[in-house]
Amino acid sequence: MTDLTNLTLAQALDGMEKKQFSSAELTNAFIGAIDAANPKLNAYVVTTPEKARAQAKASDERRAAGKAGPLEGAPLGIKDLFCTEGVRTTACSNILGEFTPTYESTVTSQLFRDGAVMLGKLNLDEFAMGSSNETSAFGPVVNPWRRGNEDVKLTPGGSSGGSAAAVAADLCLGATATDTGGSIRQPAAFTGTVGIKPTYGRCSRWGVVAFASSLDQAGPIAKSVEDSALLLQSMAGHDPKDSTSLPAPLPDFRAACSRSLKGMTIGVPDEYRIDGMPEEIEKLWAQGVEWAKDAGAKIKPISLKHTKYALPAYYIVAPAEASSNLARYDGMRYGARQSGKDLVGTYEATRAKGFGAEVQRRILIGTYVLSAGYYDAYYLRAQKVRQRIAQDFRDAFEDVDAILAPATPSSAFALGEKSGDPIAMYLNDIFTVTANLAGLPALALPAATDSQGLPLGLQVIGKALDEESVFAVSAALEKAADFRAKPAKWWA
Ligand code: GLN
Repeated sequence: MTDLTNLTLAQALDGMEKKQFSSAELTNAFIGAIDAANPKLNAYVVTTPEKARAQAKASDERRAAGKAGPLEGAPLGIKDLFCTEGVRTTACSNILGEFTPTYESTVTSQLFRDGAVMLGKLNLDEFAMGSSNETSAFGPVVNPWRRGNEDVKLTPGGSSGGSAAAVAADLCLGATATDTGGSIRQPAAFTGTVGIKPTYGRCSRWGVVAFASSLDQAGPIAKSVEDSALLLQSMAGHDPKDSTSLPAPLPDFRAACSRSLKGMTIGVPDEYRIDGMPEEIEKLWAQGVEWAKDAGAKIKPISLKHTKYALPAYYIVAPAEASSNLARYDGMRYGARQSGKDLVGTYEATRAKGFGAEVQRRILIGTYVLSAGYYDAYYLRAQKVRQRIAQDFRDAFEDVDAILAPATPSSAFALGEKSGDPIAMYLNDIFTVTANLAGLPALALPAATDSQGLPLGLQVIGKALDEESVFAVSAALEKAADFRAKPAKWWA
C-alpha cells in the first residue's frame, strides 16, 4: 500500500469511505511518522497516541454502523493554544506549567463531533506571539523545507509553526491554527501549505487561550484549498459561549471551491508593492493576476491607502489587548507558581520566571500604550487607524469581489536570522495584519518555489462573511499554479 500519510484529507476520507483502509490503520501510520520525525522537527509538544487509537477505533465502529460524520476517522494535529480536555495545554509558555483543562474548546469539540481523531498538540510561539516559532518555551520548530541541499535550519514561520510543519511533513492530515496578525497565513506560505483565517467571529474563541481578543481567529492549515474548506466547515459556526461569535448561517465551503470566476472582479492593491520586496514575489503576484484572468476574472487596480499604518497600529492594539489578557497569569489559578516574600512578590516572581522575553516585551508595550497620558497618543490613535483600514477595504469591495496580494515579503528565513531584532521580525507581518485589523477572511496558498527551492505563497482576501469567494479564487489559483513540490523527507 502507498504511504497513507501522503494523502490529502479529501483523499483519505474517500479511501476510508471505500473501505480501502481504516481510521485505525491511517492513525497508526501517522503515529509512526510522528515518532520518526518529531525529534528532528519538534512540531508536536505533546503526542496522544492512546487517545488517537481509541478515537480511531470508535470512529471505525461508527463508520461500520453507517454513522460516519464529515471528518470521520481523520487524524489531525491541534495547536497547543486550544484547550483540550484532559490533555496538557500550555500555549507553549512556562507560566501554564502542566495546566490540563477540564473542558474542550468549541472548535476542537466540533471537530471531534464530526469524527476527527487527535494525534497531539502542536508547537507555537509563546502565547502565539511571534513569526518564527522561536519564542516557544519548547524550542523552535524546524521547517521541513530546506534551501537546496543546505542543512541550514529554517523557520516554518509563526506562530502556528508546529501546525504548518506537521501538515507539510505529513504528520497529520490537517491542523488547527490561529491567526491574530498572520499566524495561519505566514506559516502556510513558508511551508507550502494552505491556511485560511476566516472572518472575525466565524469560529468560536471559547476555549482558545487569548492573545488579542479583537483580532484572534481560529482556522485550519491543510494540504489543499478543498481540505481547508472541509476543516473550516467543521470548525466554524455560531457559539453562544463567545459573545463575538457571529450568528450567521454557514455556507457550503467545499462547493464554493468549484465555483467559476466568470463575472468576478479581483482587486490588486498598489500599496502592497513595497520597497525591498524580492523580485520573485513580485513576479509570482503578476503571474497570479494572469492565472485569475485566464480563469475568467476581471482585474482592477485598487488603492488601500492606509496600508502603511497597519503594522504600527497592529503592534499597538495587539500588545494592549495582550497585556490585559495576560494579567490573569499570576500564579494563583493556573500553572506554575514561583513563591516570593509576600503576595505581590509571588506575582512578580511568577510572571518574571513564567513569561519569556517576547511576551514580557509585549506586556510592557501594551501597558505603556494603555497608561494615562499615553492612551490617546497611542491606543486611541491606533484604533482610529484601524477604522481607516477597515474603511479602505469597504470602499475597495464596492468594486471588487476579492483581493489578490502576496502572503509574505520573503520565503522562509533561517532560525536565528531575525530573533535578535524584533522590528525585522514584526516586518514579516506586513501583508497579513491588515485582514486582522479589518476582520476579513484571507487565505494563503502555495503558488511557486523560489530560486532556492522554497515555497512562496499568494494571499486572497475577501469581504466579511464571504469565504466562498475566497475559496473560489484560491481554488482556481491552486489549479493554475499546480504546486506539487514536497520537501525531501530528510528527517525520516
Ligand atoms: N507575528 C504576529 C505577532 O507576533 C502575529 C501572531 C499571530 O497571528 N498570532 O503578533
